[in-house]
Amino acid sequence: MAEVKLIGVWKKFEDVVAVRDINLEVRDGEFVILLGPSGCGKTTTLRMISGLEEPTKGKIYIGEKLVADSEKGIFIPPKDRDIAMVFQSYALYPHMTVYDNIAFPLKLRKIPKQEIDERVREVAEMLGLTELLKRKPRELSGGQRQRVALGRAIVRRPQVFLMDEPLSNLDAKLRVRMRAELKKLQRQLGVTTIYVTHDQVEAMTMGDKIAVMNNGALHQVGTPTEIYNKPANMFVAGFIGSPPMNFLEATVSEDGFVDFGAFRLKLLDDMFELIQEEGYVGKSVIFGIRPEDIYDALFAQVKVPGENMAKVFVDIIENLGGEKIVHLKADDLMFIAKFPPESLVKEGQEIDIVFDMKKIHIFDKTTQKVVL
Ligand code: ATP
Repeated sequence: MAEVKLIGVWKKFEDVVAVRDINLEVRDGEFVILLGPSGCGKTTTLRMISGLEEPTKGKIYIGEKLVADSEKGIFIPPKDRDIAMVFQSYALYPHMTVYDNIAFPLKLRKIPKQEIDERVREVAEMLGLTELLKRKPRELSGGQRQRVALGRAIVRRPQVFLMDEPLSNLDAKLRVRMRAELKKLQRQLGVTTIYVTHDQVEAMTMGDKIAVMNNGALHQVGTPTEIYNKPANMFVAGFIGSPPMNFLEATVSEDGFVDFGAFRLKLLDDMFELIQEEGYVGKSVIFGIRPEDIYDALFAQVKVPGENMAKVFVDIIENLGGEKIVHLKADDLMFIAKFPPESLVKEGQEIDIVFDMKKIHIFDKTTQKVVL
């Protein structure tokens, strides 16, 4: 087991900056998710950690070992980094049995036959593959193949697992199951794991920490709860959560309200103090609130007329069974709320809604960074 450290890491492909100045510390035994939209540089970052790609600039440590340093010209190849990778495509050898696929990395390392046999059987047991050891990959389901690919990584007992969207070829139901299995397995083995995905649910459910990337840069690193509740900027706030956070332009008034034109909401005292200190009074800001933090007034616990309530029109309702996604309108403002299935609101109706003012966010309009 080992920690992984990236210090000021950059990767340029001719004129494309794929990764810019990434600093990341993954602790021993930690499960860290690299999360971000397509093309944000996740895979390139993982490939640099694995040694499949050389950083243009910066240093990478795996454990105590400096495996890449652009200044000193150090670049250790993948086979000497003591890592194991699992990819989206399982990359199994089609002509080999499950047993031989799992045993392969050990055979390459010339480990004695007896030990290979013990280790393959132990891993097969752990992954529920014992009955399938004699089969060829084509005789397996997608989930079983992915388990064989995991087995091949685990059997080596590496210091670090690197995984690139390993579940994305599985159907939705199997993905949910494998998500839980993989998380359990990682805890059991305690091996430092770096896992790339663009799926926010995967990131929220599996990661000890999430590192959110966009445009080659790292925007925030934190626990799933931190990332969800205290996003550092509008990108992170908007990327996590479904439906995403509402962003509404507003002005902060001198008497402590956020003014949207169509209605006003009173800021909590400590929030207003902070906004005053930061110099945002009288200025235009971006107000952020998650759909689940806007309530149908009939179901709200704390409603204070004139302070946290507003009258709005119900535009569209999407009934998902377990919840209702309600599109609301007030003059030009449009936003989304998530109501419980019992809510009786109807399209075209005027209703009262309540904002949970403890859960709001204020962002700087220019920098898009969080103010509170
Ligand atoms: P995805 O989720 O789609 O795989 P990603 O976040 O993993 O995306 P990367 O594959 O790391 O993103 O790519 C980051 C950027 O670098 C993209 O703009 C991509 O086009 C570019 N890029 C990646 N590899 C190369 C390469 N070998 N040559 C040139 N450009 C590349």
